[in-house]
Amino acid sequence: MQILFMILWIFYLFMIGATFASFFNVVGIRTADHISINRRSHCPKCDNTLRWIDIMPIFGWLINRGKCHFCKESIHIKYLLIEVFGGTVFVLSFIVCGYIRSDWTFDFSYQKIIRLIMYLLTVSLMMIIVVSEYEHHVTLKKVTYVFAPMLLILSVFTGKDLFLQSMLGMGTMLVLNIVLMIYKKDLLKYLLYSACLGITLGFFGAILAILLGGLLHLIVKLCKKNIRYVYFISIGSVISLFTNPYLYPFIEKIFKG
Ligand SMILES: [Zn+2]
Repeated sequence: MQILFMILWIFYLFMIGATFASFFNVVGIRTADHISINRRSHCPKCDNTLRWIDIMPIFGWLINRGKCHFCKESIHIKYLLIEVFGGTVFVLSFIVCGYIRSDWTFDFSYQKIIRLIMYLLTVSLMMIIVVSEYEHHVTLKKVTYVFAPMLLILSVFTGKDLFLQSMLGMGTMLVLNIVLMIYKKDLLKYLLYSACLGITLGFFGAILAILLGGLLHLIVKLCKKNIRYVYFISIGSVISLFTNPYLYPFIEKIFKG
């Protein structure tokens, strides 16, 4: 019974994540295009206002088989993928922050709730930034002005150790960004975004994100393709966010002997 309840909960959380992802997609696209967020969703080709079933995350795309219900114009699979990504990272955040005990019951403690909010804010920020970069080659710096103070304030309430981690993580990301700026001046626009990632990642998480991002950058370079800084730091960070809490105890053990 407990497991069934948990599965329902996870499905519910997945759909919330997918809904947010769908919303962030709209925010990223419309903010870059200077279109009001309040306008109801419509097909960019035939301009018909979409039905509620069409805008349902994941299911909307699947039911219409990736085509507009009215004019049959195909809808890119990236919209489905970002919603699946959003749902997945929301569920993973819930698991990584330690909400599920081994006996399938919940553990809601105050610090864990703050950690979870920080995780959700960070993955949300990532989706908004990456989508607007990808769709419009625009960096939504305004969005980081909102997220950075929220993450900073939340990190104060995570306890002394985690707060110290957050500050070190933020510092590591800032130093990396500033060093890279020697080579590429336009990285200034990602300074605050990197700092936000660092706050949630913590020191070890930030190092892991940089190493993973650097490795990815190297592979892409070897394939003679050009990938922008924002993508590899985002991919490195997302992997680090969800693996670092499991890796950290091992690393700690090695250093403490
Ligand atoms: Zn249409």
